[in-house]
Amino acid sequence: MHAGAERKKVQIYLSEAAGFCQGVRRAIKLVRETASAEGRALAYGELIHNRRVMRELEALGVRVIEDAVGADASIVTRAHGITSIERRALEASGQRIIDGTCLLVTRIKESIDAALKSGALTIILGHADHPEVVGLVDGRSEIIVVGGPSEIKAPHIVAAVKSAGRVALFSQSTQRLDLFEAVGRELAALNSKLELHDTICTPTKARQAGAVELARKVEIMIVVGDMHSSNSRRLAETAAEKVRTEMVSDASGLRAEWFSGLTRIGVTAGASVPDVAIQEVLDTLCSMLDGEIAQNGTR
Ligand code: SF4
Repeated sequence: MHAGAERKKVQIYLSEAAGFCQGVRRAIKLVRETASAEGRALAYGELIHNRRVMRELEALGVRVIEDAVGADASIVTRAHGITSIERRALEASGQRIIDGTCLLVTRIKESIDAALKSGALTIILGHADHPEVVGLVDGRSEIIVVGGPSEIKAPHIVAAVKSAGRVALFSQSTQRLDLFEAVGRELAALNSKLELHDTICTPTKARQAGAVELARKVEIMIVVGDMHSSNSRRLAETAAEKVRTEMVSDASGLRAEWFSGLTRIGVTAGASVPDVAIQEVLDTLCSMLDGEIAQNGTR
């Protein structure tokens, strides 16, 4: 280094779309408002996949319940939605039910109901055991759930698709668009009467597009998110196709050895990650690497 020359600081970029989505913000707002007005509130199922936020809500008097037995306060349902059977069981508790279902999930359910009613063979791309998909299927055995294009090749699915008058494909809100398109191509090869309902939500698409754009200009991507969160894992997969990617649930997961010799670091976060957790990751990176938040490419 020349005398007087300053070492260039490590640049840390935050994706333009990162962190809480509108559905998560709304569910948390509902549960907070209920707990403040009534002194306590029950959250049916994990409202969001983020332990930190859930701990904060517990401190406000919010208790998570997995079933309606013994419910003794108003109940806010999770953002990903519930089944009709779950709703009836909650209503039978006699407590006030506050619907925390994301409005976008409600819209997907309505579109699926319409497709089924019209007689279309209805297929959902998603994780069969994810609460959102369980709620969308809502016990209707005629709906087919697939995890990806290879599953379309299963003989019973090929037979069902070929013989269907019409086929309607939907997606869990947090899936990857490329996967949805690949499933669509497989189905189109089997049945020309295919209706594609791209129901991946806008916040998910914005986070995936932001991660791809940022991953192109950095040397490593850090995805903040809980391993149990579907949208966070999809985000990490998307970024990993462009550049080395590490996933952490919070700042304590960062390892200095990941960044040795690197000068451009990208950060994004899943839809259930609070702003404060993202800021902690940025602050920790800055102090760990003697870096600075880059203005270009940040939100
Ligand atoms: S990820 Fe999308 S569909 Fe799911 S809660 Fe957020 S905004 Fe709603």
